[in-house]
Amino acid sequence: MPDGKAEIVLTAPATEMSTHHGKEFLGFGTCSPREAIPAFLIRNLFYPKVKTEKGVAKFAPYGLRKIEAILSDHFDVVTVHPYDIESWLTDAKVVGVSVMDPLGYGPVSVTFASIVQGTPTTRVEFLELMEKIRNHDCRVIVGGAGAWQLELENFEVDCVVIGEAESVVLDLFKKAVNGDELPKKVVAKSPSIDEIPAIKNASINGLVEIARGCGRGCRFCSTTGLKRQDIPLDKILEEVKVNLKNGTDGVILHSEDVLLYGSRLVPDEEKVTKLFRKVRELTANIGISHCSLASVAANPELVEEITEIIGADFVGVQTGMETGSSRLIAKYMHAKPYPFQPEDWKEVVVQAFEIMEENDWIPAVTLVIGLPDENEDDLAETLDLLDRVAKYRSLIVPLFFIPMETSALRHERFFGMEHMRSLHYEILRKCAEHNLRHVDWIMKKYMRGLKGVIVRNSYLALKKWFERRFREIDWKEVRGIREG
Ligand code: SF4
Repeated sequence: MPDGKAEIVLTAPATEMSTHHGKEFLGFGTCSPREAIPAFLIRNLFYPKVKTEKGVAKFAPYGLRKIEAILSDHFDVVTVHPYDIESWLTDAKVVGVSVMDPLGYGPVSVTFASIVQGTPTTRVEFLELMEKIRNHDCRVIVGGAGAWQLELENFEVDCVVIGEAESVVLDLFKKAVNGDELPKKVVAKSPSIDEIPAIKNASINGLVEIARGCGRGCRFCSTTGLKRQDIPLDKILEEVKVNLKNGTDGVILHSEDVLLYGSRLVPDEEKVTKLFRKVRELTANIGISHCSLASVAANPELVEEITEIIGADFVGVQTGMETGSSRLIAKYMHAKPYPFQPEDWKEVVVQAFEIMEENDWIPAVTLVIGLPDENEDDLAETLDLLDRVAKYRSLIVPLFFIPMETSALRHERFFGMEHMRSLHYEILRKCAEHNLRHVDWIMKKYMRGLKGVIVRNSYLALKKWFERRFREIDWKEVRGIREG
């Protein structure tokens, strides 16, 4: 919509409207509190603005592109960066905002903000965006994976959409454009595969969804309520082409477990390798978003085969270790180790780390601390598991338990610094030691191709600063204080 007018304007907070220098993992840095790191540094390092053309964003979050694809068949729609939004608001009737972590209640933000004491940048950017929109006469519809957070503070907007929006979004925006009454909140059911359109413009870093939902059903996880569905191969390839045509360097295949494409809890080797081969015909630069440790441990040959197909010597991937306690695994995530048993969990994790190491898959691993009913034995099991994986190249990110509105544990309490005991501190210390042990090697590989000497040097400076601060802490005293 290059004439500067559109009745619907779509956007997201600046922390999400970024390619994060082409490195998805750096997106975690947007949760950093500004009290710890100067705002300009967080912005430059973790969320530089996406490229724009005539005020229109060239890349946008994947979920926002889906909404854009549905609405653009019926309305004049434009997707813009929030720093450019004001010039579009005079003529806009409705603004749609997609959010991941609008008020900073996501696990990464809560953990960072609790430890460092401050306000997550994600929250600051969302509030600044909403302030701009409020100065204009537009109706506001907010959706996305973090929309549930608005309810925690009764945050006022015209309509909040919780869940997958595809099946409800057209009706809502029609009402909003026509000035009809809007429901304050819509809880959307999972759409059918036919209701999920292919994106029409490029997503951030060429993200392409290959499946939705996760069949493992962990009770603390926000995806548990989503229907598990595979996206048909032709639609995936169409989106790969859309991205490449519109300027992405490659694609990232996204699902909660890419190894489970076309199957439920045990990988179907043929379907997964066919997917990778077909995508490889279109681009040599294929990334993957997430995989499960159980799928890796169950199918080492599949990991090898995929590595061969994509031909990379560094495959960054996110995955969940969550705990070393088989008791907590059985209680809250009994299907996570499948086809193995909860009591095998530690062995599954160690095997998966070994397989990934052999194939140059470098996992960024989450660990949940503060699950309800967690006891000292559970924490000791986690510490033991951290020792067993210490030698494998990986980053381990401990996250405080958050009772997310969309999870089965939504009525439990938030875990915070006030609940930290001696062994929790020991887990934090061990994770930091682990990350410092491997970060130089990982950064060297991961930062290849990162343009800009200043940006690269800033990362090195930040890492050195963190290491110095970490070494200065008297951990015995910290643990002792908590025990006393
Ligand atoms: S395996 Fe991961 S994505 Fe799936 S339910 Fe468990 S935590 Fe969520």
